[in-house]
Amino acid sequence: MKLNSNLGGKGMGGSNHGDSNDLCWKSVWPLKVPPRIKICLWKACHNILPTKDRLRRRGIMVESSCKFCKEDRETLVHISVSCSYTNKFWFASPWCLSTGVREWSSFKEWWMSITATLKIQD
Ligand SMILES: [Zn+2]
Repeated sequence: MKLNSNLGGKGMGGSNHGDSNDLCWKSVWPLKVPPRIKICLWKACHNILPTKDRLRRRGIMVESSCKFCKEDRETLVHISVSCSYTNKFWFASPWCLSTGVREWSSFKEWWMSITATLKIQD
């Protein structure tokens, strides 16, 4: 898998959601992963994956705690980045990422941060 560190354009943190969404897509599209992974990443960047927190906000009564650690609400940021179990996954990955140092406001913020700093070759 290759992540391209040069996302081009205006960089992250812009005030326009269109620019941010465009950068997100540009970081996902060139990945050498199956299309379903790209779609999952795109959905995560747009916070539309069906986490327990999101289901509850839509009126579906499910238990809200994370199914792995049982310590926090299952939000997208928690289950994909902040959970202690997820931390182990990312640390064991080929990129040896440590995700627990910082509080991320969204998956997209985390994703844009790692794609801007990592350049991973095949
Ligand atoms: Zn958890």
